[in-house]
Amino acid sequence: MSVLLELDPLYILLIAIIVFLSSYLLISYLRESSTQKKEEKGKIVTVKKCLSCNYVLNKPYDKGEYVGRVGEKCPKCGGEMMVTAIYLETPPQPQEAIS
Ligand SMILES: [Zn+2]
Repeated sequence: MSVLLELDPLYILLIAIIVFLSSYLLISYLRESSTQKKEEKGKIVTVKKCLSCNYVLNKPYDKGEYVGRVGEKCPKCGGEMMVTAIYLETPPQPQEAIS
């Protein structure tokens, strides 16, 4: 008795659907986990201080910014502003109760 494994077109279609669905689910899962990681990271804030009037400005970090960088104009007096700090702003921790 010999049984030849015949490839039924319906069987092939079923495998194709399973492969497609599993890869689709995997991709959507990976996308979700990557966006969650981004949210956990928080945002990077650049602190700029005016060298003339000491006006402090907090702005979202822009590419290429570094501590000590000058060149931007102060919105208050038009003087030169310097990057004094770059830090990571993390979302507030609910465990720490402030009373
Ligand atoms: Zn100023």
